[in-house]
Amino acid sequence: MGLFDPEVFVFEDKDVLRDDYRPDSLDERQKEIQQCASALRPVVQNNQPDNLFLYGLTGVGKTAATHVLIEELLSSAEEYDAPLEVVELNCTGLSSSYQVAVSLVNEMRSPNHQLTTINLNKGRLPETGYPQKRVFEELRDDLETAGETVLIILDEIDNIGTDDDLLYELPRARSNYDFSTRLGVIGISNDFKFRDNLSSKVKDTLAEKEVHFKPYDATQLTRILEKRAKQAFSDEVLDQGVVQLCAALAAQDSGSARQALRLLREAGDFAEKEAAESGAHPQLKERHVREAETEIQRQQVVEGMESLTIHGKLVLLAITDLATEGETSPRTKTILGRYQQLAHTQDTDPLGRRGLHNHLSDLKLQGILAKYDVADGHGKYNEYELDVTIRSAIDALETEFADLDELREKARASGVA
Ligand code: ADP
Ligand code: MG
Repeated sequence: MGLFDPEVFVFEDKDVLRDDYRPDSLDERQKEIQQCASALRPVVQNNQPDNLFLYGLTGVGKTAATHVLIEELLSSAEEYDAPLEVVELNCTGLSSSYQVAVSLVNEMRSPNHQLTTINLNKGRLPETGYPQKRVFEELRDDLETAGETVLIILDEIDNIGTDDDLLYELPRARSNYDFSTRLGVIGISNDFKFRDNLSSKVKDTLAEKEVHFKPYDATQLTRILEKRAKQAFSDEVLDQGVVQLCAALAAQDSGSARQALRLLREAGDFAEKEAAESGAHPQLKERHVREAETEIQRQQVVEGMESLTIHGKLVLLAITDLATEGETSPRTKTILGRYQQLAHTQDTDPLGRRGLHNHLSDLKLQGILAKYDVADGHGKYNEYELDVTIRSAIDALETEFADLDELREKARASGVA
């Protein structure tokens, strides 16, 4: 069989599992979409919309829901003769009000986001060099030229951090500057801290209406995946239980549809690779999901490790080493002992307890470790546990510390592999 013969294809339409695929409807988010719609309804009557703030962890459908909502609003606005223009911006990599303002201007001048309807066909602003006041003026002018009602969508707005003047200025432009355009701002954030830390003046204006997107549970994720899987996979490829397993794993971890979809897609890759190699009919089984899970976590650990110093890596090695001996949730004291031992074998001077703490926190932030507060008769202490499979951790550590087969052996012997 040839490398590209359709007989081995697992996917019918792999794009359906891609992150940027936009489903037409989101049954699991009807409540949230309704809440958002009530803020935007005035648009259809040529009135000023409320500003909206959507927040929730990554992968829970905020961007997808916004797309469904705005598409429908645009078609209603057209039907009821209410002129509406939209400018959409993803703020990834934009860490100040200045940068966001420049990017908004440029998005209106040469659009490259899906929902943006404005195209002013003007020269782009340079990314640096103008005073902030000038940039804000250009922004106001462009917004006025753009239309009678303009919705600004600022996705992943948490990137702006504390430099949030723009979020104060924009929603107030109309009252403060004799500004004729009716403006609505939709801010979307993955970060709860950003929401909690918004200055009260921004909170009052930007977050006139707030909508919280909760993590999905396993039942919701199953429904979401079932619909996508039906389109994505060839008939009879998918074993029973595969979708449920992806949903259950993602629900346990993050409640993210993005994570669940990624598991399913990568599991499909494993199944396809196997079919291509063996020449057998492709079948996507639960064990492919397990393989995908390990691979995704391995990548997560490898990526996380890139930002670690040798000490951080040794701390991870110490915890993994302990786990292979069946000690899966050691206390700080135990970790310190093993880490110091390993540091000596690597000819590295080990850090003390405080240094260890910093690295443990880093590893926790990376999602590689979980931390538990434990109390017993002697007092309170912390326990740490790998938040990825032992296999993923060993595989990833091997990119730093040559051959770790010995750890695999130990894990097998103690039955934790
Ligand atoms: P967020 O913006 O909250 O990080 P997204 O809206 O980008 O999350 O959703 C992540 C992925 O999950 C996207 O591919 C999206 O299409 C999908 N998704 C999220 N919620 C649903 C849902 N209710 N139905 C179908 N797909 C969904
Ligand atoms: Mg998003």
